Amino acid sequence: MATAHHHPQIASLLTLSARLGRDPLLVQASSGNTSVKLDGVLWIKASGKWLASAMDEDSLVPASLDQVRGCMRQGLDYRSIRAGTSGCELRASIETAMHAVMPHRVVVHVHSVNAIAWAVRRDAPERMAELLSGLPWQWIPYVASGLPLAQEIGRALERDPAATVFVLGNHGLVVGADTCAEAAALLDQVEQRIAVQPRPPRQAPVRLKPRAQWRLPANPALHALGADAVSFRILQQGVLYPCQAIFLQEPTGDAAYVAAAGRGVLVSASITKTQSAILGGLLEVVQRIDENAPIRYLLPSELEALLSADVYRYRQKVESNAKTRVV
Ligand SMILES: [Zn+2]
Repeated sequence: MATAHHHPQIASLLTLSARLGRDPLLVQASSGNTSVKLDGVLWIKASGKWLASAMDEDSLVPASLDQVRGCMRQGLDYRSIRAGTSGCELRASIETAMHAVMPHRVVVHVHSVNAIAWAVRRDAPERMAELLSGLPWQWIPYVASGLPLAQEIGRALERDPAATVFVLGNHGLVVGADTCAEAAALLDQVEQRIAVQPRPPRQAPVRLKPRAQWRLPANPALHALGADAVSFRILQQGVLYPCQAIFLQEPTGDAAYVAAAGRGVLVSASITKTQSAILGGLLEVVQRIDENAPIRYLLPSELEALLSADVYRYRQKVESNAKTRVV
């Protein structure tokens, strides 16, 4: 693996990954993943790792492209086939199949707050068609991560084999290119096209006092989730995207934060670095959703599928990686 890491394409991928991972408008905590294909091997971010730490720790896993694609042809997820194999501490990203199905050498998947602010809208396909006009892009309606998402991307590539930009409903953005520099330039171009000015916070005087297991957030901007009437209403009506459900809601019903209408926010006294990053991203997304936007929330069945035991194991892994993360 040490030899492979000296490959210039892998060095470029790690540099790009770290840069993207440090931009909270593109990646929050362990979200997002990147990959490069070299000589039949897909080098992909390990599950639960933070892109921000890509330069500081082992974060890439090699996977045989033939094997991943072979599994897909049989309707199987490569990750579940590999789950039982021992000797490899790192497990490939949940989106391994998606990276493999794309023909591009370099694939970048981010949870861009601009993209999500559009991708939660029922009219996202039409709005994206205007904003991304001229770019080879495809709309991918919400499907679960893993094999279902890879299959949808595969269908989109059958519709347009030249597609390089994929907007994922209630999820984020994927771009593919031949080099890291081209992928970065394409991502920048898309981000410029879809950029939304966040709603100015109509900051009401916060009259919240810390109590019991709740405390005031370290980031005072978070108060907008309660103080801003539009943001508060949007969040009351449902869950916008998977990370919001996975990291900010507890199976026991205890949440990472509580918002008080017209006032502000208190966060759990035990809020983790991961949850803070996800909550910061949620603020950025919600402030970019127009107050009249027709929102497509995650369905109860989609939420149920998300909040499985497997997801909580994943979350524990992310939290343990966060403790050792070099900031
Ligand atoms: Zn994702």
